[in-house]
Amino acid sequence: MKPEGSSRRGWSLRDFEIGKPLGKGKFGRVYLAREIKSKYIVALKVIFKEQIEKYRIHHQLRREMEIQTSLRHPNILRLYGWFHDSERIFLILEFAYGGELYNVLRKHGRLNEKHAATYIASLAQALAYCHENHVIHRDIKPENLLLDHEGRLKIADFGWSVQSKSKRHTMCGTLDYLAPEMVENKAHDQAVDNWTVGILCYEFLYGVPPFEAESQSDTFKRIMKVDLEFPPVPHVSPEAKNLICQLLVKDSSKRLSLQKIMDHPWITKNANPEGICNV
Ligand code: AMP
Repeated sequence: MKPEGSSRRGWSLRDFEIGKPLGKGKFGRVYLAREIKSKYIVALKVIFKEQIEKYRIHHQLRREMEIQTSLRHPNILRLYGWFHDSERIFLILEFAYGGELYNVLRKHGRLNEKHAATYIASLAQALAYCHENHVIHRDIKPENLLLDHEGRLKIADFGWSVQSKSKRHTMCGTLDYLAPEMVENKAHDQAVDNWTVGILCYEFLYGVPPFEAESQSDTFKRIMKVDLEFPPVPHVSPEAKNLICQLLVKDSSKRLSLQKIMDHPWITKNANPEGICNV
């Protein structure tokens, strides 16, 4: 390869050696792979066309592919290109050696402030870049965040994102991470992603998302009330709580901007500016 400039057409399975499976998603499997000529390591996502037909995700997949190919940012997983055969579509993705942030979080329970702030700063930078390009992700959650070999955060999975300059109406995303305007199925804009940064900041520090409840309807209610509680634990500083409170604001226009997240004292004090994080 090197798969930069991968708009090159004509990739086929013959160009790759397939290695171990990396994971299984809703619509397909992901394998470690090496492009034979360049020896470049990638992740190859295999999606069966039958599944695309069955779930009618044709448009969603095309949108995901177009958006992810066009975005170039150190904290956004690259999609280098794609090809297909009669049964399958193959996405050539940047390989994220560290796997899902979700697994890191489950393993450690919660993160310290330095690690949490580094991930939040990386996320804010990547989202600022998305928003500049009129892309709203709408489905940021730990399962959609991957880590590279240096522990750098990479946003993956643009399946629910939209490229739009106007307010959107579709209800989507995962309950615990949904902003009130999404829960209410109201028009929403880029500020839904800012809300999710607040949710993740809380989850990184406390190990659980803030509005978790026994039932879905209770989570809805807690989100709508912004029923935010901070358990009294010594490892979370007042500055961290201050940042979370400024993001989990019901009025979307009053949420802290992504630039202000990056400039927030908790971030400037704790985040590694290189974005490298060895948990
Ligand atoms: P997905 O279908 O995108 O949900 O991917 C299924 C699983 O494969 C994920 O949960 C990851 O653990 C793994 N995976 C997906 N993409 C990559 C990648 N680019 N690098 C490493 N692992 C990946």
